[in-house]
Amino acid sequence: MSESGAPKGRLIIFSGPSGVGKTTILKQLHERCDLPLLESVSATTRPRRPGETDGVSYHYMAKDEFLTHVENDDFLEYTEVFGRGDLYGTLRAPVIEAIADGKWIILELDVVGALKVLKIHPDAITIFVHPGSVEELERRLRGRGTESEEALSRRLEVAKGELEASSHYEHIVYNTSVQQTVDEICQLLIAIAEKS
Ligand code: 5GP
Repeated sequence: MSESGAPKGRLIIFSGPSGVGKTTILKQLHERCDLPLLESVSATTRPRRPGETDGVSYHYMAKDEFLTHVENDDFLEYTEVFGRGDLYGTLRAPVIEAIADGKWIILELDVVGALKVLKIHPDAITIFVHPGSVEELERRLRGRGTESEEALSRRLEVAKGELEASSHYEHIVYNTSVQQTVDEICQLLIAIAEKS
């Protein structure tokens, strides 16, 4: 509880290499974990993938619009993720609002963004979803079949760096099966809720 007696909001930093299954894990976590979880919707300049919805998966923006938000200091953090000019960022206002509202807001971030947010919010809960190995991740990304060969090798290069940075996270969860991973994350969050 906060000093006012209202339930205390928390900030959760959730990372893992692209393709590890974060989206599926988060979806099931919402369905099965009894906490006031809310997912922050990032802004991005990358094109929308089939099956994604504007305002739900991301706020898709033209580069000019994104840069205007940068100028106005609207982002809690932003970064260029894959070295091809695609920008991703977390708008500050909805995050602050959600925490004040008692929500456990989940920020899905790359490791660069995660470290930036951790500096501002050192009490954030940090969770890294690990694929086990780069080979396993490659198998998953190929299975998804949404990338060109070039984009795939770029993602794998970035992923190697991300796996090395996982040591900065308090909780590393190995994604063996989605169900087991979701249960593990839910249990660790409930344990934190019970302590606070
Ligand atoms: P994807 O293009 O596969 O949706 O996401 C690529 C990467 O961008 C993922 O590693 C994801 O965690 C990261 N990402 C998504 N939103 C944000 C954000 O708002 N800020 C930062 N720094 N990274 C993000």
